Amino acid sequence: MDQQNYINLEDKYGAHNYKPLDVVLNRGEGIWVWDVSGNRYMDCLSAYSAVNQGHCHPEIMKAMIEQAQKLTLTSRAFRNDQLGLFYKELCEITNSHKVLPMNSGAEAVETVIKAVRKWGYKVKGVPENQAEIIVCSNNFHGRTITIVGFSTDNSSREGFGPFTPGFKIIPFDDTEAFEKAVTPNTVGFLVEPIQGEAGVIIPRPGYLKTIKEICKKNDIVLILDEIQTGLGRTGKLLAEEHDGIEADLTLVGKALSGGFYPVSAVLSNTEVLGVLRPGEHGSTFGGNPLACAVARKALQVLIEENMIENAAKMGTYFLDELKKIKNPKIKEVRGKGLMIGLEFYPDAGGARNYCLKLKEKGILCKETHDNIIRFAPPLIIKKQDIDWALEQIEPIVKQ
Ligand SMILES: *Cc1c(COP(=O)(O)O)cnc(C)c1O
Repeated sequence: MDQQNYINLEDKYGAHNYKPLDVVLNRGEGIWVWDVSGNRYMDCLSAYSAVNQGHCHPEIMKAMIEQAQKLTLTSRAFRNDQLGLFYKELCEITNSHKVLPMNSGAEAVETVIKAVRKWGYKVKGVPENQAEIIVCSNNFHGRTITIVGFSTDNSSREGFGPFTPGFKIIPFDDTEAFEKAVTPNTVGFLVEPIQGEAGVIIPRPGYLKTIKEICKKNDIVLILDEIQTGLGRTGKLLAEEHDGIEADLTLVGKALSGGFYPVSAVLSNTEVLGVLRPGEHGSTFGGNPLACAVARKALQVLIEENMIENAAKMGTYFLDELKKIKNPKIKEVRGKGLMIGLEFYPDAGGARNYCLKLKEKGILCKETHDNIIRFAPPLIIKKQDIDWALEQIEPIVKQ
């Protein structure tokens, strides 16, 4: 079958809830992927940062195959020999006290909302059904009804109501707005350290630090959604480290499995997760031995192969070189680690056109919103790969 046949099948039988670039991939290795005609591309999206460790990392693959041959799913009705080790290693690496494992990122977000509300009623003493959670405009936390209910992106929300009440939306990177929004019923503040889907929006230095102080003063749980920024993407294990703080609750997902399997988790520094009693929350697949074995190895290679340091070093190089590209149509190039956004002015003809041209040059990127290209290759990228990428990118984004 040629490429068009695969595309036709997707279009005929699949729901059209995505608008992918027309490239049909069938193989991946490290930072590279190949299409069905054998063309090679550098992956500059990394599945929205789920394959930070690179495609088909051999060690993670081995762990997955070995575990799949032994035991894949027990449900949490019984214990398994991977879960405890996964908890311990994840807690030690992230300096957390407790873990609650789920599968997708959105499930981790839903979990945290439940846990924080319950904490509000049981511990903080908020009157029943009055708990408020503050979130930011232009957030991206996933696709469930509750989560899209507090999105400010019209295409995420429109036609899906009625929504879950109990959320207050304030501008991102605005500590005054946060202080003003706080009431005695505020139980949590849910925020991304850097807004990824919004187009790599980086708050001013010290934002998280001030937010953390306000949370502490008002007995509010600070919840950082690090599903995209976490696990090395920004050049630190967690992006919170750039501000020298520790969130009360941290959400991780995506790269937690290196792209092999959906694994997410809520990490807790506080008593919050302790409010959940048996029967109050769960997931059939959450914490299964296959997921745990894969995640343990994905974490191990991230650290032992120095991917986080590499992301910091290579990210700085990539960003500096992209900034040197002169084109009056480029509004800004910004980033942290290997999470980089290149924003065009609205009259540049749209970021998607640039992505289509980059694809022809062997670079796969995805536009976010109309005018921003995100560059987020796997964290194992080397200087010579970036140099090659820059040779392809420069003539295109100069146009
Ligand atoms: C991707 C993402 C999610 C949702 O994760 P899914 O696995 O797609 O449900 C939530 N928060 C952030 C910041 C994300 O980037």
